[in-house]
Amino acid sequence: MISIAKPNIDENEKKAVMEVLESGNLAQGLKVAELEKRFSKLCSTKHAIATSNGTTALHTALYSLGVKPGDEVITTPFTFVSTANCILMCQAKPVFTDIMEDTFNIDPAKIQITKNTKAIIPVDLFGQPYDYNSIKETAKNNILILEDAAQAVGAMLDNKPAGSLGNASCFSLYATKNIISGEGGIITTNDDFVKNKARLFRNHGQGQKYEYLELGYNYRMTDIQAAIGIEQLKKLDSFTEKRIRNATLLSSGLGGIDGLIIPYIKKNCKHVFHQYTIRITDEFRLSRSELIEKLKQNGISSSIFYPIPLHLHLPFRKMGYKKGDFPVAEKISEEVLSLPVHPSVTDEDIKKIVEVIQNV
Ligand SMILES: *Cc1c(COP(=O)(O)O)cnc(C)c1O
Repeated sequence: MISIAKPNIDENEKKAVMEVLESGNLAQGLKVAELEKRFSKLCSTKHAIATSNGTTALHTALYSLGVKPGDEVITTPFTFVSTANCILMCQAKPVFTDIMEDTFNIDPAKIQITKNTKAIIPVDLFGQPYDYNSIKETAKNNILILEDAAQAVGAMLDNKPAGSLGNASCFSLYATKNIISGEGGIITTNDDFVKNKARLFRNHGQGQKYEYLELGYNYRMTDIQAAIGIEQLKKLDSFTEKRIRNATLLSSGLGGIDGLIIPYIKKNCKHVFHQYTIRITDEFRLSRSELIEKLKQNGISSSIFYPIPLHLHLPFRKMGYKKGDFPVAEKISEEVLSLPVHPSVTDEDIKKIVEVIQNV
């Protein structure tokens, strides 16, 4: 079976983990500090703060930006649930905004700022940075941007790295992401205040040892996770190149098929293809579920990210959202299909995927 995601681990990660185990320092320590340093270098930011996962990174970052109960935070309904849950964790109100059909990212033209809008969380979905320039324009000066870069490590916009495209940014190192630590999160920022708040918040609100300044959580990363993350980061360029190469091969094989829309890459973007996501429209010979079945029969996994936009899930319906609110996100969620693109997918695999789809 050609899988949709596969962790890419070799002797280096195993060795690094063994070293941590033998050192006796298993919790947050020197390895976490080193991973943070490497991330701030990668993202050209002053600071990086590691947390236990991408969701705790988002919660920590949003809190540290100063989002308070009752504030409104604008985001996209076409994303993983954490992007919106972190708003609920801050007891703020998620305000969804529809997406663009081509990039699947939040549509700057549809953003409606109110007097209660405190922040916007755009997502670099599937590995393509969001439209920073237009959103910056819309957001004006006093609205903060938290970039959800969970899927976009290594991506670029106008030669600026994902992770530097907001007042703060968050990455996830979850086991299926472009680089991994099993579970893990990273916040990047140039803001000293955000950095200081985040360091308190992830560590019980603790200033000096046993001095508690405010409510905090235990959101720390362990050195075991960080050791894996460091080794993965060393391989980021080769992973990314392979993803881009696979995506390019897929697109040259799948372009021009009736009813199948290949991923759109904006000119000023380096898209790192966390997912390679096509659209199956009515003009295609099979329905999306028939195509999934066909692929499966031929040993090819595929996956739908995301089958139901967030505003149609119970916690958000309860807030008054309903079908019809975000027509583009609703339509796209019925059309998208992600195909294997990760670095372990071979040229042979790509050939097979293309042939199976061409032959329907
Ligand atoms: C994976 C992901 C997250 C959450 O990260 P975890 O590490 O799984 O908590 C948040 N946002 C997006 C867009 C993601 O893809």
